[in-house]
Amino acid sequence: MALIKCPECGRENVSDSAEACPGCGYGVKAHFERIRQEEEEKRKEEEKEKKKKADAELANKLSSLARKPKLYSHED
Ligand SMILES: [Zn+2]
Repeated sequence: MALIKCPECGRENVSDSAEACPGCGYGVKAHFERIRQEEEEKRKEEEKEKKKKADAELANKLSSLARKPKLYSHED
C-alpha cells in the first residue's frame, strides 16, 4: 500500500488501495490493479520472448557445432 497521486484529478496522498479517489471518485484501486496485471502480463510475455530467443540461440549454436566437425575434418 502506498500513497499516490490520483491519475484522474491529480489529488495527492491518495491510497493506491482506495476503492475510489476522495477527490473525484476515480476507481484508484481498480486502476492500479489493472496496471499491476498489465505489468505482470508484460513480464510473462518478455520472459517468453527471452526463452524463445535463448532457444533459438541454442539451436543456432548446436547446428554450428554440428557443422564444425566437417569444417575441421582433415580425414580425407
Ligand atoms: Zn481523483
